[in-house]
Amino acid sequence: LHIPFCKQACAYCNFHFTTSLRYKDELLAALVQEIGQEKAYLEGQTVETIYFGGGTPSLLSGAEVNLLLQTIRNEFPLAEGAEITLEANPDDITTEKLRTWKEAGINRLSIGVQTFYEDELRWMNRAHNADQSRRCIELCLQEGLTNLSIDLIYGSPLLSDEQWKQNVQTAVSYGIPHLSCYALTVEEKTPLHKQIAQLKKTPVDSDHQARQFILLMDWLKEAGYEHYEVSNFAKPGMRSRHNSSYWKGITYLGLGPSAHSFNGTGRRWNVAHNAKYIESVQKGTAEKVCEELTATQQLNECIMISLRTAEGLDLNRVEITWGESEKLRITKDIQKYLKKKQVVLSDNKVRLTNEGMLVADGIAANLFA
Ligand code: SF4
Repeated sequence: LHIPFCKQACAYCNFHFTTSLRYKDELLAALVQEIGQEKAYLEGQTVETIYFGGGTPSLLSGAEVNLLLQTIRNEFPLAEGAEITLEANPDDITTEKLRTWKEAGINRLSIGVQTFYEDELRWMNRAHNADQSRRCIELCLQEGLTNLSIDLIYGSPLLSDEQWKQNVQTAVSYGIPHLSCYALTVEEKTPLHKQIAQLKKTPVDSDHQARQFILLMDWLKEAGYEHYEVSNFAKPGMRSRHNSSYWKGITYLGLGPSAHSFNGTGRRWNVAHNAKYIESVQKGTAEKVCEELTATQQLNECIMISLRTAEGLDLNRVEITWGESEKLRITKDIQKYLKKKQVVLSDNKVRLTNEGMLVADGIAANLFA
C-alpha cells in the first residue's frame, strides 16, 4: 500500500509523494475502495505479507492503519502469522503510535534512519534529527517491536569511511536483525540533482561509494548477517519475507497511487497522481498502465532479479522455462565474468561475488536475451 504523503522532500527522493496532507482523508477512503475493487487480482490466493510503503506511512494513526488492515482482512484470506511491515520515519515514532500500530496488526517496522550524523541528515533534507534516529530504535525495542529493519545510505560526500563504520556499528549494536543499505543515487528531477548542477553540493564519487559498499559487506559478514540481496542484509531467519517475494517472482498486488502489481506474466502500475487516482477509484477502478511480458522479457526480468540475490540465477530453471539454448547462451556469456571473478558457478547457479555485486545491474544487462 503506497501512502503518498511526506512531511518534507528529501533531497535525493524520486518516489511519488506530496508534502500537502489536504487530500489525506479522501486518499485513504479511495484506498479502502480500491482494496475491494482489486479483489480478483490475487485469484483467491492467501495474502502472506503486507507492506505499507510510500511516502511516509508512519504519518498514519493506529486507527487509519487498522481501517486499511481490517478492509484487507474482509476482502482477502490473510495468512496466520502474515508479515505486516510499516515503513516509518524516526520523527513519527511515539509510544502511542507504536502501541496502536501493533494492536492493528503491524509486526515489523522498516525505519528510515539513513544516518546517525546530523550534518548528513541536514544535507539530505531529512525531517528527523540524529537524536531521534537513536531514540526511536530504543522506543521500538522497549515496546517489544524487535522485528526491525533500518535503512542506511552510504556514499554521500559527507560520509567518511570511519563515520560509515560508526553508522553500521550503531545499527549492529542495537541488535537490528535486518539492514537495507543503499548507495546514494542522484536521480534526475530531484532537488539533489539540481543542487549538484548548480554547484551547491558536491557530486557523488563512485569510487568512494564502491569502497564503502565493499567495507559494508565485510563488516556485516563479520557481524553474522547474511547478504541475501545486493542491498539487503539479515540475521539468519530474519530476511524480509515481503521483499523476498518480489525476488522470487511471487504475485503481488500494489494499491494506491503509483503502486505496481505483478502476476507472473504481466505488470501494471497505478497513476502517480493523487487527484487522478482518487477520481478514477471513485469511478470504479484506479487509472493504470498494464503491460504483458513476452517470454524474452520474463527471462530478462528473471536474470535481473535473481542475479541480485544470494540464491543466484538458476540455470536449471532457465533451461526448463526458456529452453536449453538460453541456458547455453548464458553459460557462454558468463565466462568473462568468471575470469574476472565477478561471478561464480556452482550447482548450476550463477552467483555474484562481492566484486560482482558492485556491477550487478551491468552484468545482468549483459546476460539479457
Ligand atoms: S520520507 Fe521517503 S518518500 Fe518521503 S521524501 Fe523522504 S525519501 Fe522520499
